[in-house]
Amino acid sequence: MLYSDNFSNLKTAPSRLGYGCMRFPTKDGKIDMEKTEALLDKAYASGVTYYDTAWFYHGGESEVAVGKIMSKYPRDTYNLATKLPMSIITSRDHAVEIFAKQLEKLQTDHFDFYLLHCLDKNNWAKVKEMDILSLLDEYKAEGKIVNLGFSFHDEYQVFEEIATARKWDFCQIQYNYMDTEEQAGDKGYELVKELGIPVVIMEPLRGGTLANLPEDTTTKLREARPDASVASWAMRWLISKDNCKVILSGMTEMDQLEDNLKTFDAGEPLNDCEQQLVKDLATTLRARVFNGCTGCSYCMPCPAGVNIPRNFRIWNEYGMYGNRWGTVWNYFSNMDESAHADHCVKCGACEKACPQHINIREDLVRVSETMNSLKG
Ligand code: SF4
Ligand code: SF4
Repeated sequence: MLYSDNFSNLKTAPSRLGYGCMRFPTKDGKIDMEKTEALLDKAYASGVTYYDTAWFYHGGESEVAVGKIMSKYPRDTYNLATKLPMSIITSRDHAVEIFAKQLEKLQTDHFDFYLLHCLDKNNWAKVKEMDILSLLDEYKAEGKIVNLGFSFHDEYQVFEEIATARKWDFCQIQYNYMDTEEQAGDKGYELVKELGIPVVIMEPLRGGTLANLPEDTTTKLREARPDASVASWAMRWLISKDNCKVILSGMTEMDQLEDNLKTFDAGEPLNDCEQQLVKDLATTLRARVFNGCTGCSYCMPCPAGVNIPRNFRIWNEYGMYGNRWGTVWNYFSNMDESAHADHCVKCGACEKACPQHINIREDLVRVSETMNSLKG
């Protein structure tokens, strides 16, 4: 198992493979405790020492499950990470209340890693307004928090502002070989590396997408390493980056855990030739988009309520990854119906604003047709 040597303030070094506790197996809509315990036991026995949960995961039950299962092990032999749910925090006192509840749920007196969850422009403004950082600094001084950081979902400019606002102990970003220009991206990764802030990676497989790519796009990977899973290439791309100190994977099945253990036990970075194969794969996938929407939002707001960039994003991701059911879920369950492509009344206002000169009206018709045919 690979370990990170950056956190000398911890008794146990964090393993570079971290267990993301947001996708535990479920039964009848609840966490399947038997299967989850088997997974966490196997991870612990195999040297995984970083467990990442959050207030929101599994409707609040992930923290409870992790607390129940992990508390049978000596507390100083593994690291716990959880997060302050900034989107629902209403005051400094509310943060005090939630933090106390989290200690209780996780059956611990401290968190090795504590994050401000999902910082974006709005949540960061709340952190400053409510003076949340002085509270978390007090907890640090009392030993209730060992390392303080934040997880991030917004544009690079916001990332730069937050990353440079103080000396963070770590930060958590979405990063993988397809998301190099999204959110923090390559630029954000390089910035925090320069600032000496260790990085925890989330979504190394883009929610599993990079483990299940269209077969014709992965021929060269399979030829180069017949025994390696497609997922292992994404993990090794991150292992090759020395400031990716912990790479979180939300493992639901035992074979996913075993595959990751194999990758992180070998701990092999990509060689130059393999780097090129991954670069070529990313180029191939990107070339499969249906249109060149960059998500800039200059076309917004649409008077009919259509979320133009969101429709195109889901559609283009389907072009790249061919993930039928993920696409159907994203479109029909994860986007408000009123924002769907078929609400376009063809006024044409958006097309005048689009720097990519996209035939938005025409493409929205194609989006709608594709989504309805996928749904079946
Ligand atoms: S053409 Fe359609 S998508 Fe564009 S602004 Fe008008 S209603 Fe909205
Ligand atoms: S203006 Fe064009 S490129 Fe920008 S989000 Fe709208 S459709 Fe996409």
